[in-house]
Amino acid sequence: MAGLNLLMVGAGLSGAVIGRKLAEAGHTITIVDARSHIAGNCHTERDTDTDVMVHIYGPHIFHTDDAEVWDYVNSFTTFKPYKNRVKTTSKGQVFSLPVNLHTINQFFDKTMRPVEAEAFIKEEQADTSITDPQTFEEQAMRFVGKDLYEAFFKGYTMKQWGCHPRELPASILKRLPVRFNYDDNYFFHKFQGMPENGYTAMIAAILEHENITVHLSTTFTRTQTDDYDHVFYSGPLDGYYGFDQGRLPYRTLDFERFSYEGDYQGCAVMNYGEVDVPYTRITEHKHFSPWESHEGSVCYTEFSRECGPDDIPYYPIHLVDGNQMLQEYVTRAKAETKVSFVGRLGTYRYLDMDVTIREALDTAEAFLSRSDANPMPAFMKAPL
Ligand code: FAD
Ligand code: UDP
Repeated sequence: MAGLNLLMVGAGLSGAVIGRKLAEAGHTITIVDARSHIAGNCHTERDTDTDVMVHIYGPHIFHTDDAEVWDYVNSFTTFKPYKNRVKTTSKGQVFSLPVNLHTINQFFDKTMRPVEAEAFIKEEQADTSITDPQTFEEQAMRFVGKDLYEAFFKGYTMKQWGCHPRELPASILKRLPVRFNYDDNYFFHKFQGMPENGYTAMIAAILEHENITVHLSTTFTRTQTDDYDHVFYSGPLDGYYGFDQGRLPYRTLDFERFSYEGDYQGCAVMNYGEVDVPYTRITEHKHFSPWESHEGSVCYTEFSRECGPDDIPYYPIHLVDGNQMLQEYVTRAKAETKVSFVGRLGTYRYLDMDVTIREALDTAEAFLSRSDANPMPAFMKAPL
């Protein structure tokens, strides 16, 4: 059935990718975003003084094992090779992340080879009595042990999430590899890169279709649902219901932006592992575009804190104990027939860009193949 009138709430990756696929199928797509720009949290913009491409809502590095998603993004823009190599400052020294052989040798003042380091961590550091780690802390104790955990993860995680790592699920730490060689690539994915002209240009290209109209600085409210045949909502799940059952917990970020003449820190990302340093990391944005050359520099000092009603919700917080309020919102949302909840905020999940795109493509596909026997679900994947 072509020619439906469809609304995307949010002009981030979710709204853009779903909108594009459904526009190509002949539907009329309206996209609204409360912000004055497209691209959601992936938004990039050149700094007027230095010409550095700034990742306005924090650094974004594209990494995926999904060849179809990689082909998809490459069909809209040129990607430059980019490997994320993160450093961390702890105990008065700079170390390499993710934890690798260099980190281990430097930290323990040793010169171990891979097999020796692996045996050392397993036999002298890791708590092997933990067989099935459930919490962040158990995962860390099981795979790197107390010393590395306390230097690099405990303080950082308490700052980032505002709670103790034993309250957080192991899945958060599983995002990071531990290596017994000198590979310091932060990610383990096959395809990694950075869009040459920034993410906003890439998303602008996705939105470039005659059936798509974008309205910026336009806030959606639930009553508008009736004006459309179907709504794809990438705003916060609790926001859809006007927070009438309370506010789900999120972390927000404050970025203190500063300029510098020259090279401020010599790398793109410097983490700060200790809890008494109030910020989590400093990012130097020109290093995210190493193929460019800039004298001036733009840096962000990043602080994480509890998200208030007027803040941007960045990270949904999932605790090991679960969340009754979330369960209630999800139950309500699952009963919706004219709305699909998508993206990081709509599904209240910690989604990287590649997973966001994968789910957006699958969502559009499910919509196109829906039938009475197989109706469009409110969630492709719910948080519970
Ligand atoms: P968003 O980008 O959040 O877009 C949702 C849009 O909806 C927003 O623009 C918002 O203004 C709009 N909106 C919400 N409510 C309303 C309303 N009522 N009316 C109108 N508009 C509304 N992923 C990676 O793969 N690599 C990384 O390195 C990486 N780094 C990240 C760093 C940070 C600090 C954060 C927060 C995320 C990072 N991500 C990264 C994840 C990435 O940002 C998300 O995967 C992606 O932005 C999700 O896209 P989305 O469209 O679902 O959501
Ligand atoms: N983390 C940490 N120390 C670091 C980097 C990460 O403790 O130096 C933890 C932190 O809890 C973080 C998680 O590992 O939320 C996953 O790290 P990642 O870099 O993927 O987080 P992102 O900022 O991308 O959400």
